[in-house]
Amino acid sequence: MNAEMRELYQEAILDHNRRPRNRGSLADANRRADGYNPLCGDRIRLFLKIEDEIVKDVSFEGAGCAISTASASMMTQSVKGKSVAEAYALFEGFHAMATDDGERAGDLGKLEVFCGVKEFPARVKCATLAWHTLKAALTQPADSTTTE
Ligand code: ZN
Repeated sequence: MNAEMRELYQEAILDHNRRPRNRGSLADANRRADGYNPLCGDRIRLFLKIEDEIVKDVSFEGAGCAISTASASMMTQSVKGKSVAEAYALFEGFHAMATDDGERAGDLGKLEVFCGVKEFPARVKCATLAWHTLKAALTQPADSTTTE
């Protein structure tokens, strides 16, 4: 990671950890998932409102280290308003970038700052926790509370 990317990475982590976006519960969510990273103790609960295969709204709650919080914050910003298929693609892209495994596809925009995380293997699970939780929420069936 060059000096500029390192600086961007640190700035993004600090900023999003201090002021997480889309934090809190979502009363009309129709998907929820919990994530836990035992290596660091990070916990996240993710709320999604999906309508017509579009992520209409998204929020998260939880407690964790700065990297997990910042990653969750940036993840919610990235997938809000996207289609479910696009959100999956972002998961795949982010996961490939953070773990250096699999094909990198497309431009991840601001999420690219997390490409530096693979230099810190112990932190990869912190950075990917929110994304794994997103995938879990996307793959589960709609809440049984919604009318069938
Ligand atoms: Zn962590």
